[in-house]
Amino acid sequence: MTLDLDWQPILDEAQSHFQDLLRIDTTNPPGNEKLAVDYLRGIFDREGIDYTVVDTAPGRQCITARLRGRQRDSGLMMTSHLDVVPVDREHWRTDPFGGEILDGEIYGRGAIDMKNVTAYSLAAFLAAKRSGWALEHDLVFNAFADEEAGCAQGSRVVVEKHPELIACKYALNELGGFTLHLGGQRLYPIQVAEKGLVWLKMRVEGDPGHGSMPHHNNAVVKLARAVERLGRVSTPLKVHPIVDGFLDEMGKALGPVPSLFLKLARHPLFSDLILKKLMPDKDKAKVIYASIRDTVNPTGLAAGKKVNVIPSVAEVTLDCRTVPGTTREQLIQEIVDIVGPGFTFELIEEGMAIPSAFDTPMWKLLERTIEARDPGARAVPYLVVGFTDDTEISKLGIRTYGFSPVKLPPGLEFSRLYHGHNERIPVDGFRWGVQTFMEAVHRYCVPSGG
Ligand SMILES: [Zn+2]
Repeated sequence: MTLDLDWQPILDEAQSHFQDLLRIDTTNPPGNEKLAVDYLRGIFDREGIDYTVVDTAPGRQCITARLRGRQRDSGLMMTSHLDVVPVDREHWRTDPFGGEILDGEIYGRGAIDMKNVTAYSLAAFLAAKRSGWALEHDLVFNAFADEEAGCAQGSRVVVEKHPELIACKYALNELGGFTLHLGGQRLYPIQVAEKGLVWLKMRVEGDPGHGSMPHHNNAVVKLARAVERLGRVSTPLKVHPIVDGFLDEMGKALGPVPSLFLKLARHPLFSDLILKKLMPDKDKAKVIYASIRDTVNPTGLAAGKKVNVIPSVAEVTLDCRTVPGTTREQLIQEIVDIVGPGFTFELIEEGMAIPSAFDTPMWKLLERTIEARDPGARAVPYLVVGFTDDTEISKLGIRTYGFSPVKLPPGLEFSRLYHGHNERIPVDGFRWGVQTFMEAVHRYCVPSGG
């Protein structure tokens, strides 16, 4: 059932708030999300909506508001983050904080990551409040600070200190619901699972000595060998069922030859050959490679203080991302299997993977909504290899979905816009997104349709 509203003014208003939000510079660091929170407070104050602001650091705030439904413990949270990543101004066609429209597209840092969703959520929340939706389930508006720098001054504070503010059953967040054009077909990936994060320091010891006399127990040399192996040798394949299904769907859309490629990419004997050498689209190859295994990426080296002294210790930082189900111990064993014995490991940071939330009524609802809004297209569940606020939110038992619908024309690729130069969203795609998002939210919170 579609939501029967006078859409024009709703979409105009959502677009106007969205462009205003793009004009607020919330580049993280430093964030300054308070400026965006002030903007939202102004609207809530005018509308007589109660809200809570959580201060996480100077200039940094999160904001939450809740409309009560008839049932308890079954709420839906619409969540976004207000911070954006930095820009290289010289590569932009417009002012990245101008919210300008050029050739039917709205430009601005945060246009798809993810002030569009802040605007979607606001539109849904205002409609629910103004028209007095007969809510069966709570509807929560939420916007965090500091997602782009790891959540420590954003969702983590709210989850640890004020969990009651966002207590819910489901959350809609970023990374899903955008058009993926493949072989003349349209897929809409919806995130239902997310890889975990384990940041490690790996250390090796050797004999100290004078730089004039090489010996065979040099920590720098031992570490270099290990790092070289980590760059060359892959961890074993771990194809999560969600990824398996997603790659099958991609193959079906693309045709028999790409489909065979994608199958071989999941075969232990051919995977590396396909993904490291043969696959022409290197961007896609990279994502697929990361989707089907735990990854171990050396990102920093430290050893030695003086050019003529052999140091006794050398260390490397490793950014590791785990498939749901891998424990930290299993991951370290995978590393040891590659580099051999003699290394010690120190944990820097850990974020849990999010297992699949695929077999739920919410998934069905999102799938139905997308497929009704773009007839002929298909919604497909997928696993995200990076991390989002979902890592924190999930600690509260909330099931999260990447659902930030945007209709994109062929040739405009979501993955290139994301954190890219000239981040933008088609005006039509944004307005389509507002309506799609609102229909999904309404379908869940007002199941009777009234
Ligand atoms: Zn984001």
